[in-house]
Amino acid sequence: MVDGGIRILRRFRFRPLIGFLAAGLGVFLGGCAPAAPRSFSGAEAYALAQEFLEFGPRVSGTEANRRAGEWIQGQLKEAGWDPFLDEGEYMNTPVRNIAGRKGGGPILILGAHYDSRRCADQPQGGCAEPVLGANDGASGVAVLLELARTLGLDWNTRQVWLVFFDAEDNGRLDGWDWIAGSRQFALRVRDARAAGDEFSAMILLDMIGDADQQIYFEGNSDPVLREEIWSTAESLGFGAFFLPTQKFTMLDDHIPFRDLGIPSVDIIDFDYPHWHTTGDTLDKISEESLERAGRTVEVWLEGGA
Ligand SMILES: [Zn+2]
Repeated sequence: MVDGGIRILRRFRFRPLIGFLAAGLGVFLGGCAPAAPRSFSGAEAYALAQEFLEFGPRVSGTEANRRAGEWIQGQLKEAGWDPFLDEGEYMNTPVRNIAGRKGGGPILILGAHYDSRRCADQPQGGCAEPVLGANDGASGVAVLLELARTLGLDWNTRQVWLVFFDAEDNGRLDGWDWIAGSRQFALRVRDARAAGDEFSAMILLDMIGDADQQIYFEGNSDPVLREEIWSTAESLGFGAFFLPTQKFTMLDDHIPFRDLGIPSVDIIDFDYPHWHTTGDTLDKISEESLERAGRTVEVWLEGGA
């Protein structure tokens, strides 16, 4: 958090100017979609990942996890979203999902997990050190928070929930299962549906920041939605990074929502040699990869998806 203050100052100094220029452009171009303040920036997302990683490993139930969750709520508020918490317990450990909502109408969930794995047990097993999770966790958090600042939708007819899951990543450690946080959150969604809320889709971003990026179709994802998203990536010139063939089938945070019958997609790049090692650090992710993932989701959503 050492240079956070400097970054915040810089942002405040330049944002009004950028906003003024964007407003001017809007007049000339005559907006065909509700005005977004600017488009998704990989550099901004990378800076968010860097700041988030200052909390260190964010193992469920720890002080660092709690503080990281507070920071996420602060970022959501600053970007004009309404934060809310989903709190519970799993294996005698507090599980706190953080969410932010905006708009009205059918709800689309964008998700990522913010916890990190308690043990770096790849490739040799053991539990000497936790995983920092620059790609496995922070990359998705950073993309969601940058989308919070840049998404321009018709908020009178569209509602988005940005959901940051806890307790995703301790699977197979001391009897823990994977995705405990999203299973907990899905109970809330089930109840909201029973009360009349409509959920249109769930899109998960996990491990999307690898500098060597290849994102394949994931086998448990909704075929129609994943085709749409990968076609959007192709139209943006990202066809070499979003590959429309199925490679992995994942147990990930989209599963509890798919099981509720909500069309769900996991955008994940599982070809990552640093997965669950102490090497999953900031230098392994890139601005370009974050930008490709974020821009794709942004353009897909702003195109009326
Ligand atoms: Zn993981």
